[in-house]
Amino acid sequence: MTTAGYEAIIGLECHVQLRTRSKMFCTCPVQNEGAPNATICPVCMGHPGTLPMLNRAAVSLGLRAGLALGATLHPESIFSRKHYFYPDLPKGYQISQYDRPLCTGGVIHTELGPLKLTRIHLEEDAGRMLHGDRSTVVDWNRAGTPLIEIVSEADLRSPEHAELAMRTLHRVLVEGGICVGDMEKGHLRCDVNVSVHRPGTPWGTKVEVKNVNSFRFVARAIRFEIERQIDLLDAGQRIIQETRTWDGSKTVSLRKKEGSADYRYFPEPDLPPLVVAPDEVAEARAALPGVPLDLWLAARDVAARQEWRDRYGLGDYDIGVITGDPDLERWFLEAVAAGGQPRAMSSWVQGEVQRRNNIGQLGQLAPRHLVEAQRLLDAGAVNRDAVKALLENAANTGVSPEAEAEAQGLSMVSDEEALRRIAAEVVARFPQERARYDAGNKGMLGFFMGKFMAATERRADPKIGSRVVLAALEKR
Ligand SMILES: [Zn+2]
Repeated sequence: MTTAGYEAIIGLECHVQLRTRSKMFCTCPVQNEGAPNATICPVCMGHPGTLPMLNRAAVSLGLRAGLALGATLHPESIFSRKHYFYPDLPKGYQISQYDRPLCTGGVIHTELGPLKLTRIHLEEDAGRMLHGDRSTVVDWNRAGTPLIEIVSEADLRSPEHAELAMRTLHRVLVEGGICVGDMEKGHLRCDVNVSVHRPGTPWGTKVEVKNVNSFRFVARAIRFEIERQIDLLDAGQRIIQETRTWDGSKTVSLRKKEGSADYRYFPEPDLPPLVVAPDEVAEARAALPGVPLDLWLAARDVAARQEWRDRYGLGDYDIGVITGDPDLERWFLEAVAAGGQPRAMSSWVQGEVQRRNNIGQLGQLAPRHLVEAQRLLDAGAVNRDAVKALLENAANTGVSPEAEAEAQGLSMVSDEEALRRIAAEVVARFPQERARYDAGNKGMLGFFMGKFMAATERRADPKIGSRVVLAALEKR
C-alpha cells in the first residue's frame, strides 16, 4: 500500500494456543475460563523447589505447526527464561525459546502472495488481569498454557495482505488440529509491527500493536497506524518506538518498547535441551493430510469447486456464496437431493433462504418447499409474487407451497402464454420425433402431449394443452 508516497512495512507475531489437555510444564488442565486461580499449582506458580516437566503433546503440536507451514524442524532446541515484571506473571519470567527455537523458516501462502516466516517457537502463556470497576483480580489460570509463537518476516505491504495471511494461518491451525481457533477466547492473537517510509529510503521506526484478536481488526489497526504515522511524519514529527493496543476504533499507546536485551534471556536451567526424535516428527506428519497444509487446502478448494461446477453447472460466484456458508450449502444440497434443478435452487438459496436466514425467519420452511415453488413457477401456475407468498405461508405454517396452491385452486395451469412456451420447449427437445411427425406420422401428437403434460406436472388445462402443442408442431 502506498499512501501519499509512503510505503508500509508490516510483520506479524502470532501467539497460538495449542490444543492440549494440560499445561506446558505441569499437569494443571488448560482451562482459560471459570473461577480465577482454580487451575494453578506450585509448578506453574514457580514456587521454590518445584521443577517444570515438559508436556510432549505440546511439542508434538509445535512440530505439526512447523510441518504444516513448511518450516525447518530442529532436532535440538533450547528453552530460555524471558524476564519481566508484571502481576500476571507469577514466576517473574516466562519460559520461552530464544536463540535456538523449535522451527525456523516456513511460509504462509495467500492469493496476495507469500509471507515468509522467521521462526516458530514454544512458550508458556502468562496469566491475565480482570479489571473491574473498583478492583482488579489477577487470574493465573492461563499461566503456563502451551503456546507457539509464529514470527513472520516484515514482508507485508498492505493491511489486506496481513488480514488474509492471518485468515490463512487460522485455517491451517484449525484444519491441522493444532489449535481450537476460538478467536474470542484469544486462541490466536497477533501482534502487528508497522512502520512507514518513502521507497528508496531506510525503513522507518516500527510500532507494535499488541494482541489483535480478530481478522478485521488486524486490517483496521494497520490502516489506522499507517495513517497515524504518515500524519506525524508529514507534520515533521518523529515516530517513537512503542507498544500500542487496538481499542476497537484506534491504536492507543501502552508503553515505550523495550529492546530484547531488556528481557535478560538466559537458558532455562531446570530443563534439558529439547531433543526431538525422528518418530515424533513422523507422528506429527501423519496427523496432517498434506504439507504444506495451506497449499494442500487451496488445492482441495480448487478440486471441490471444479466438482461443483461439473456436477451442478454453477458459476464460481454462486459456488463461492453457497459453499462459503454452511447453512446455505446444506439448503442447496438438500433442495437438489429433493429433485430441484441446481441453478434454480442456487437462486432460491441465495435469495429467499439467505434473506430469511439473516433475519432469523426461516420458520418451518424446508428445502423441498423450494423445489415445489420452482415447479409451480415452471408450470406457469403462479407468478413470482404468488410463489413468494406461498413460501411465506410455508415458513409460517409448514404447509407446503403445492398443497397451499392446490387448496387455493391455483394448480390448474391455464396461462396460455406460459403453456405455449412449455410446448415449444418440449417440441424442441425431441427433434427425431418432430421429424417423424413432419413426415406424416400424426400419431406422434400423443407422444408430445404426454411429454407436455409431464413437463407441466399434469397441471395444464388439457384443452389449452392440446391446442398449444399442435400449434408448436405445426410451426415451421
Ligand atoms: Zn500447574
